[in-house]
Amino acid sequence: MPSATTVDPLDVLIIGAGISGIGAGHYLRANCPGKSFAILEGRAASGGTWDLFRYPGIRSDSDLHTFGYDFKPWRDKDAIADGAKILDYLREAATADGLDELIHFNHNVIGASWDSAEALWTVDAETPDGPRTFRARWIFAGTGYYNYDEGYTPDFPGREDFTGTIVHPQHWPEDLDHAGKKVVVVGSGATAVTLVPAMTTGPQAAAHVTMLQRTPTFVTALPREDKIAQALRRTFGEERGYQLTRRKNIAVQHWTWRLARRFPGQTRALLRKAQVRALPEGYDVDKHFNPPYDPWDQRLCVVPDGDLFRAIRSGRADVVTDHIETFTPRGIRLTSGEELEADIIITATGLNLRLIGGIPLTVDGAAVHFPETVAYRGLMLSGVPNLALSVGYTNASWTLKVGLLCEYFTRLLRHMDTYGYDAVTPEADPTMPTRPLLDFAAGYIQRSIDDLPRQGDHDPWATTTGFPDDVRLLRNGPVNDACLRFSSVHDTAPATITEPATLTEPVEVAS
Ligand SMILES: Cc1cc2nc3c(=O)[nH]c(=O)nc-3n(C[C@H](O)[C@H](O)[C@H](O)COP(=O)(O)OP(=O)(O)OC[C@H]3O[C@@H](n4cnc5c(N)ncnc54)[C@H](O)[C@@H]3O)c2cc1C
Repeated sequence: MPSATTVDPLDVLIIGAGISGIGAGHYLRANCPGKSFAILEGRAASGGTWDLFRYPGIRSDSDLHTFGYDFKPWRDKDAIADGAKILDYLREAATADGLDELIHFNHNVIGASWDSAEALWTVDAETPDGPRTFRARWIFAGTGYYNYDEGYTPDFPGREDFTGTIVHPQHWPEDLDHAGKKVVVVGSGATAVTLVPAMTTGPQAAAHVTMLQRTPTFVTALPREDKIAQALRRTFGEERGYQLTRRKNIAVQHWTWRLARRFPGQTRALLRKAQVRALPEGYDVDKHFNPPYDPWDQRLCVVPDGDLFRAIRSGRADVVTDHIETFTPRGIRLTSGEELEADIIITATGLNLRLIGGIPLTVDGAAVHFPETVAYRGLMLSGVPNLALSVGYTNASWTLKVGLLCEYFTRLLRHMDTYGYDAVTPEADPTMPTRPLLDFAAGYIQRSIDDLPRQGDHDPWATTTGFPDDVRLLRNGPVNDACLRFSSVHDTAPATITEPATLTEPVEVAS
């Protein structure tokens, strides 16, 4: 039963109190002040990713001027920031918008069903006090993109023979003592390149850390502090300085990504040149840092102030590029015959992708199968009424896209209010060619590609990958188009509604 503090039915039920869900709460407050909403969070705390991951050195690899919200300046001197600072920032944002009392913690959503006759979602949640049911006109799924219960670990032969400790970064034991130990980190992604330098420094420093990778990743050093951002802040003040840095970084990210895609050979050469300078003389850069794929086929890993390269130079860390034959009692034997000794093995082998929190959805009793749906503007799914999801960028800060999605979402709500609509369903032409929703070669995406929604081959069904395109489509474009079917179950709505052209023009949105 909804508690006395929960309106029934709610206008919007946000699922997830991570950066997306808290952001959605802000945009609802700012742009749709009359709307009732609540946030259901499966865990006991807000912050999502930034509360879950507790491994040493946990940090962003995006700059916080673009990973932060449009509406809340990032004030810290570090542009690439550690998890605790990001968490504080998110929680401050929630408190500033009065969202704390709207978050229902330990409410794990396990199912949602849409009823067209009432134009309502019924949402079931598990709580420590038993099951609860909520009803809402809309669902906003700020549920992230991976399974919180379990990270991805391949089946390593001989795993049970290893006599040391095996840890997955998603489930870091609070009391793990790695001081003076030999550590092997299996993986080459953002988590591995964060862990390796972090575990070689400080009072808990390991004796030695080896990053064991099958395939190299593009790794580039960026300054942890952004001196230009600091100068802009001093000159123009907190708000204006933040917006200027944000614009600068959006442009820099967009153009470096585009140029990298256009000129992969030159980009590879530039990255290599910087690595040769940062690594010890004679280091085999091509073996360990020159991937077989092009820059940005997979996310490029950032190392703040070159900390990974520094750790290698110091001799406390190294990189081994090889294949695992088997775990052994004392470590890992490689196909080359070499054996890496380890007290601790960290499987930084990735995530299990999961959209909409793995929540089974039904529409009028029929189960929704994601692979049969097509994403509309990257926000909704064909055939599924009044459901918004927030999937951010994989080639830039996640939140840049989520902010635009929230802007469009609140414009859509206002549009529906204006015309008395209760429901909106994107309808895709069944003959439209489709392809996977996420165009990214990363392993965790490829492993789940067949379980995900699809994208179409043109606007508004094709997922854009660039901020400028999304500004055009989501912020400045018309709210309505021929792919949206609006409907109403209430008498107040006119039977046939003609929308004046002016109301499909851009609506100024507060942020
Ligand atoms: C270690 C790490 C570092 C990253 N660094 C960056 C970075 O630098 N830049 C970048 O752009 N991206 C980064 N990402 C991606 C990152 O996850 C996103 O950018 C962002 O934090 C996602 O926010 P979110 O709110 O959408 O999802 P999440 O942070 O995943 O939050 C989702 C929330 O929804 C809740 N939830 C899920 N399912 C349910 C359910 N069924 N019922 C109730 N609640 C539910 C979860 O408990 C969680 O609190 C990183 C990811 C990881 C794992």
